[in-house]
Amino acid sequence: MFSSPSQSRTDSLSHLPDDGGSQSDVGLHSNSAYLKYQVSKLFAAGVFCLLSFPAVVTAQQLCTYQTFTWDTLQKKSVDWTRVEKPRGRLTESEVDAYTGCSVCEQDQRRIAIPPLAPFRVCHLLAPRLERVLRRLLQDGEPIVEIIGYRVGKTRGEVDAAGLRTEFSNHAYGVAIDVNPGSNGLYDKCLEFGPGCRLIRGGNWDPQQAGSLRADGAIVSGLESIGLVWGGEIDGWQKDFMHFSITGY
Ligand SMILES: [Zn+2]
Repeated sequence: MFSSPSQSRTDSLSHLPDDGGSQSDVGLHSNSAYLKYQVSKLFAAGVFCLLSFPAVVTAQQLCTYQTFTWDTLQKKSVDWTRVEKPRGRLTESEVDAYTGCSVCEQDQRRIAIPPLAPFRVCHLLAPRLERVLRRLLQDGEPIVEIIGYRVGKTRGEVDAAGLRTEFSNHAYGVAIDVNPGSNGLYDKCLEFGPGCRLIRGGNWDPQQAGSLRADGAIVSGLESIGLVWGGEIDGWQKDFMHFSITGY
């Protein structure tokens, strides 16, 4: 039988001489000083908690983010704004109905996998995304750039001033762009061909390294964690860099 650590400690203590009655006063005295010390420590901890409690609550309930609006006439981002509000006052458009992820920086997690520049995505997506990206990079897949969380109104209806009115999936941290330099966003592109018009990023050419292919390891790896590739979505746009839960 193995003796437990506590048992061996008891055994070693039993070899010490009995402290007897003469030392009991000293013992009592130090015990009471110790007790006072502990009480004062508890008191200090209590005061600290009371003082810091409102700050902790505020930090947890706060939502901050920086946003812009896409101007379709000037073809540039305008109205850069820093938003700071209590989480309880988020509007419907500030929270993704599919995932519950929000535009708040507080909901995002940073992923850093060298040599990629660090990026952020929603905390609900981050662990599985990081796992699959590490595997793809270890396998030598040519991933050179990823863009994740980026809050901006770049989707939806265009208002009278030519401004977009809805947040993209990047705004909630539930979309990523892979290698934008070789996986452009095209419109007028029901099916990919010479008539498609490149509107963002670099030319997509499935023969070149870094461009994504439907049968490639990067697309199938990201699809395995529930993401849909923007290169295969229905409609007039093909967004070859883009992955999200809906594909849009
Ligand atoms: Zn995108």
